[in-house]
Amino acid sequence: MSAARGRYAPSPTGPLHLGNARTALLAWLDARARGGAFVMRIEDVDFTRARPEFEARLLLDLRWLGLDWDEGPDVGGPFGPYRQSERGDRYAAALARLDVYPCTCTRRELRALPVTSMTGEPVYPGTCRNGQSHPGRPAAVRWRVPAGSFGFVDRLCGEHHQDIARDVGDFVLRRGDGAWAYQLAVVVDDVDMAITDIVRGADLLDSTPRQLHLLRALHPELPAPRFAHVPLILGAAGAKLSKRDGAPDLGALREAGAPPARVVAALARSVGLVPPDVREVRPQELLTVVQADAPLAHLAPQPLDLAGL
Ligand code: GLU
Repeated sequence: MSAARGRYAPSPTGPLHLGNARTALLAWLDARARGGAFVMRIEDVDFTRARPEFEARLLLDLRWLGLDWDEGPDVGGPFGPYRQSERGDRYAAALARLDVYPCTCTRRELRALPVTSMTGEPVYPGTCRNGQSHPGRPAAVRWRVPAGSFGFVDRLCGEHHQDIARDVGDFVLRRGDGAWAYQLAVVVDDVDMAITDIVRGADLLDSTPRQLHLLRALHPELPAPRFAHVPLILGAAGAKLSKRDGAPDLGALREAGAPPARVVAALARSVGLVPPDVREVRPQELLTVVQADAPLAHLAPQPLDLAGL
């Protein structure tokens, strides 16, 4: 079997919070513990929100934390470019191979649709499937989703099924303003960059069947990558971490002079990788505490304890 290739794919739309940092740490650990390569990819596909200064800052913050990567926008590599904003030609080539149609439904019309409990989003009813509702308006591009249920087994969350036509509907691959959709870009990039293992936040679990469906349509010959959707970080109240918990972002901790080994220890404790009394640890040292063949097998999420930072 060829070596594992993992990746972290942040969107540079704001400072990295500790939840992002923990996901990055776990993705790094998963790849490195198995002797694999680690790729940094910048998901700046949404040009209305991404900013170069956030990219520069997040790369600095992750290096400060003690992570490293073999390929990325700042170090290059054989499968670049590693910024989605520079990969539009590849997304266009993929789009040209899919059965798509222009959609001129307005945001207001889409907002009025009932949401489904499956994804928390509305199911697109196919309004523009057979002709645009408002010809002459800027059109998004939707994929005419083939029917069929789609399932996969997540390394941490187990089996996950979705009937995409029923639960999501035809979804957008390119927005009306020309921005490529994350769903398409992520599939094209993970294939181009030969990613074998995707470790990312559990909030993306529901996107995975869509991405696997696209992968199958574009590359029926390729094996799917393995997925591990890691838990989102919990605040003191046991709920998803929020600003109310007063958790500083990674850059703020760096600038305040916090020792990175203390930040890594807090992140590692928050997922049960080290005992509660461990106050300092380096990412490299964590490689010795995980099982090499299943580095994420024993995650035990706990509230984040920032004492001593
Ligand atoms: N860019 C996405 C995010 O920052 C992650 C996408 C992925 O890992 O597939 O949430």
